[in-house]
Amino acid sequence: MDTTSFLKKTIDGVTTVEPALTPPSADSPLNTFAKKPKLGASKTKKKEIPEGLWTKCPSCASMIFDKELDENLQVCPKCDHHFPIGSRERIHSLVETCSFEEMDADMTSVDVLKFASYKSKLDRDRKATMLKDAVVTGIGKIGAHKVALGVMDFRFMGGSMGSVVGEKLTRLIERGTEGHWPVIIISTSGGARMQEGVFSLMQMAKTSAALAVHGQQRLPYISYLTNNSYGGVMASFAALGDMNVAEPCAMIGFAGPRVIKDTTHSDLPPGFQTAEFLLEHGMIDAIVPRKQAKEKLIGFLDYFAAGKKYLPA
Ligand SMILES: [Zn+2]
Repeated sequence: MDTTSFLKKTIDGVTTVEPALTPPSADSPLNTFAKKPKLGASKTKKKEIPEGLWTKCPSCASMIFDKELDENLQVCPKCDHHFPIGSRERIHSLVETCSFEEMDADMTSVDVLKFASYKSKLDRDRKATMLKDAVVTGIGKIGAHKVALGVMDFRFMGGSMGSVVGEKLTRLIERGTEGHWPVIIISTSGGARMQEGVFSLMQMAKTSAALAVHGQQRLPYISYLTNNSYGGVMASFAALGDMNVAEPCAMIGFAGPRVIKDTTHSDLPPGFQTAEFLLEHGMIDAIVPRKQAKEKLIGFLDYFAAGKKYLPA
C-alpha cells in the first residue's frame, strides 16, 4: 500500500502536485523502521515447550510436569491442590486390580425435549471424554470389601444429572441392595441437566428412593463429595450418605455463593461452601484427601462391618 500523501502547491500561478513526504528507500540510513528487527524474531530461538507437558498449579503457581501430576493422582506435589480427575482414573486408583465390572456402559441420553444444541453437546463431550455420560458405575472390590461404586465426571456436561446419570445410579444402588453390598458414590456436578428439564429433576426422587430402600436393609452408603458438588445432586443422593465425606477445598452447596449473596443481601463468611467450612459446621463428617481415599474408605467400611451393619462379601 502506498502511504505517500500529496500536497497541492501554487507558485506564481503554476499549480504543482508533489509528495508531502517522500519515504526514504529501504537502504537509506534514515529508514530506521525498516532496520528494526521484527518482534519475537531473536537470533537465538526460544526453546518451545510442547503443549500438555507442564501444568501451572493455580494454588501455588508451581510448574508441574504432567507425568508427575498423573502419577500423583492429579494432586499438586508442592501444595496438595486437587486438580479435577477423570472418573476412570479415580476408579483405577480405588479398586483392586481387575475387580471392577462396569454396569450399563452403553446407556446413552435421548434428546426427549429436542432442546437446542443438546445433541451436539452430547456428541462433543462423548468424543472429548470417551464416556457415554457423566457417571461410570459398577461393582468392584476395595480392600476386602465388595462395593457398588459410582463415580461422576465433571468433564461430561459439567457432571450434570440427566436421565442416564439418574438411571445408572439407581440401578447401581438397587444392585448394591440385592447383593448386600455397601454403595459408594463419588460426586462432582453442577446439578440437574437443564436440557432434560423435568426428566432430570425426577432423578432426584428416584435416586433418593433407591437409597431409602438400601438404608432400610441396614446397608451402608458413603457419599464422597469432590470439587463442585452443587444443585440437584447435592439436593438428593450426594447429601444422603451414612457418611458424607469430601475432598480438601471442594466447593459444596445447593446454589452458588453469588446467588445466595444476591438473595440474602448479606456478606458471606470467609471460606463459605468449602469442605473445611462445612466440616466445621457439621454438614460433612470428614475431609478425605484423594491420595488417602482408598485407605480411608477401607477404614470406614471396616467400621460398618464391625458394627454388623453388613458382612463383607
Ligand atoms: Zn500447588
